[in-house]
Amino acid sequence: MTYHSKKIGIITIHDVSAFQDHLSNTIETMKRIEEASVKYNIAIIPNYLKKYPVTKDTFSIFIDKYIMKDKPNIALHGLYHEYRHSVEDYYTLTTKETKEEIAKGLAILKEADIQQPKVFIPPAWHISPSTAEALHDMGFDVSESLDKIDLIQRDIAIVTQQVMNWDISGDSEQNKPAIKQNQEIYDKIIQGFKPTILRIALHPPHDPPEALDQQLEIIQGLESEAGYIFKTYDDFVKEDIYGY
Ligand SMILES: [Zn+2]
Repeated sequence: MTYHSKKIGIITIHDVSAFQDHLSNTIETMKRIEEASVKYNIAIIPNYLKKYPVTKDTFSIFIDKYIMKDKPNIALHGLYHEYRHSVEDYYTLTTKETKEEIAKGLAILKEADIQQPKVFIPPAWHISPSTAEALHDMGFDVSESLDKIDLIQRDIAIVTQQVMNWDISGDSEQNKPAIKQNQEIYDKIIQGFKPTILRIALHPPHDPPEALDQQLEIIQGLESEAGYIFKTYDDFVKEDIYGY
């Protein structure tokens, strides 16, 4: 395999929170991904709905083994994600407001003995220039938005339009069409359309129930049939992954 034929997959388990109704699906997904022996990121919501703060008792004890020090794979996924049906905003806040929100989230994770993330994924997948500035000043290394990954401290934007996502509507029943859509993307990849960087966004609380088996099949197929290598965001910072 030549250098430029290298294909990178980024798996992120989104919406990981202390909300107990969601936690069992999330842990099931983590277990399956671990069994597949591929690297992945987890995007943690420190205080989901402003109601379920991450603490040692509500959270860390359940997922401790997935966030060990040798697995630097944690992303900060906003502070509360949504409140009274509106998604948390990182596109109209000022730099100062953004810093305050992010600092609150980091403090909650610290209190729960979770390492401080260097990766930021906003709940609505949009980042304004003021959010970008806040992340830069606070020492974040990576942010992910709808169509790009920013290596913040190096001022590099990597355009990555291809995302496999099963959460179209926020409701697992209504998300069923995503099964077919993602199968079509996968089939195209196997037939030769191979994006250099492919993001795979898993939302265990909202993906259709049958999605997990498909997600695992796709991940294994991407690795064995299509030559994808799965990386964490930390790898992007540590390694010169694609000559950036
Ligand atoms: Zn989310």
